[in-house]
Amino acid sequence: MVEDRPALPGAHTYMTRFTPDRCPHPACEHAVNFQFQRFGRYERKCDGREVQRFRCKTCRHSFSIQTFRFDYRQRKPHINHPVLNAFVSKCTQRQLSRTLLLNRKTIARRLEQMGRHCEAFHRAAMATAPSLVHFHSLAMDELETFEANRLQRPLTMPMVVVRGSYFIVDFEVGALAPRTKRPAGVPRHTRRSESSKAVAAVLARVARALQATAVGELVTDKKKTYPTLIRCAFGRRLQQRTVSAKAERSNENPLFAVNLTFAMLRDGISRLVRRNWAHSKLAARLVRHAWIWVAWRNYVRPRTVRDPNETAATMVGAVSRPLIPMEMIRDRLIWD
Ligand SMILES: [Zn+2]
Repeated sequence: MVEDRPALPGAHTYMTRFTPDRCPHPACEHAVNFQFQRFGRYERKCDGREVQRFRCKTCRHSFSIQTFRFDYRQRKPHINHPVLNAFVSKCTQRQLSRTLLLNRKTIARRLEQMGRHCEAFHRAAMATAPSLVHFHSLAMDELETFEANRLQRPLTMPMVVVRGSYFIVDFEVGALAPRTKRPAGVPRHTRRSESSKAVAAVLARVARALQATAVGELVTDKKKTYPTLIRCAFGRRLQQRTVSAKAERSNENPLFAVNLTFAMLRDGISRLVRRNWAHSKLAARLVRHAWIWVAWRNYVRPRTVRDPNETAATMVGAVSRPLIPMEMIRDRLIWD
């Protein structure tokens, strides 16, 4: 449970009061008795800030406060806040590079880093919430989009959302077969549908994440592959409830939570807006971008305009209060 700040691996107080709780060097990964000494300071080049250095008494490697931060080795840490906000506000990478006067590659690298970080943040936050008791009813559906070419390279994005709170538990991206007719003499498309594989992967992860929780039901549409995939992932822990895809898409519809999430996703991520130039060129980048949005949606964005103190994550008990964007991208969570 997160109290005043996210209790995540590597969560630290920064600057002068900071004391490292472990050695970041891989050689010391399993060391039990961690001892360090202060080891001078250096001036951070990007903003002139003084940074404390430390030295591990076991492996003699030195490191600093920066080693534990998300902006470790970044030359432009000041762009993280505007970049994160732009990634969830339907701004394209190209437009962002023009607005912030940055190279497009800088933005692309930050998207990759932030996406991986946000996924790790979400997984760590879910793991630290001991009682995800609100997961009694889940909804799953697949969002269709594409990479590079709408007819040749369609994609599917199955996502699982907690009904009531709209907490996004997980998603996956997989290829779909081309929507074009096969040329004469070609027995099958080389690009095959990965829909079942993607659904199986997301359900397996959701089942693992909710291991100790008594889950009630999972609402889906009537796609024929779902019952087997759900049974494989959850066994008897969960009942499937189906809704006709033709049912009215109002807030009475049991799939409303996931339909609304998809609508918001399409409104927040430039590459998912229909019929525009910002579409994904590569599925892998869609995954990174979507994780940034998912983490922001779960932990930062208030659920409703009426109550700024309630986010999807506070409702399910994953954190105790809404986070500000920079709290989410403060501690370093990726260590390769
Ligand atoms: Zn060490």
